[in-house]
Amino acid sequence: MNIEEIKAKKPIYSGKAKSIYEVDEDKVLIEFRDDITAGDGAKKDVKEGKGYLNALISSYLFKKLEENGIETHFLEYIEPNYMLAKKVEIIPIEVIVRNIAAGSLCRRYPFKEGERLKRPIVQFDYKNDEYHDPMLNEDIAINLGLATEEELKKMREIALKVNEVLKKVFDEVGIELVDFKIEIGRYKDRLVVADEISPDTMRLWDKSSGDILDKDVFRKDLGDVISKYREVAKRLKLI
Ligand code: 5GP
Repeated sequence: MNIEEIKAKKPIYSGKAKSIYEVDEDKVLIEFRDDITAGDGAKKDVKEGKGYLNALISSYLFKKLEENGIETHFLEYIEPNYMLAKKVEIIPIEVIVRNIAAGSLCRRYPFKEGERLKRPIVQFDYKNDEYHDPMLNEDIAINLGLATEEELKKMREIALKVNEVLKKVFDEVGIELVDFKIEIGRYKDRLVVADEISPDTMRLWDKSSGDILDKDVFRKDLGDVISKYREVAKRLKLI
């Protein structure tokens, strides 16, 4: 694959931290960039090595999901910061799963930060910066035409399965999976896990020290975010 040739074309989509290039009618090349943003893009920076670490970690986690029978868009990791993936139609819903209360859950509801939830919370947010990603319920999602009732049901099932796999992967390396966000795409007649799964899209806490190993380090100005992402990659034995 000639990356330069593919990248010579305009990306079909360019988000806050990734650019997507069409390879053919069935495949895309995802470039993980070093850009980092928070608060709907209000806070921005560039962190060298972030694109590489997120491509590496995402590729590994997609492989783990596939090994556990969950279909994803992942096809191949391409060094240093690319992923070859199936071309899917992304459903504009952020599917969030929480095991421990943190972030917006504690801002909106009387949960205590760090409180272990009685059972996982699956939450659907509308992926829409203009409206600040408002939380959806089934009726709103269906009326907005975002997904069908059957799709929403399936998305919840997929999210909970992904949670079980990821919780185990991180537990084995001494990391607590606090919460995460996935995006799901339509591929042929199926729903597949798409986008990325990285420290940008998860909350990860070191089990023994409680150290934050994810994008909250950037969101809350807690220090060198790249060293935390590197620690995650090291624990997973990727570097
Ligand atoms: P919260 O709703 O607490 O802000 O986020 C819950 C989880 O979903 C966190 O792991 C967070 O990183 C992820 N998440 C939610 N919304 C977004 C988003 O718009 N972008 C990214 N990268 N992650 C998100």
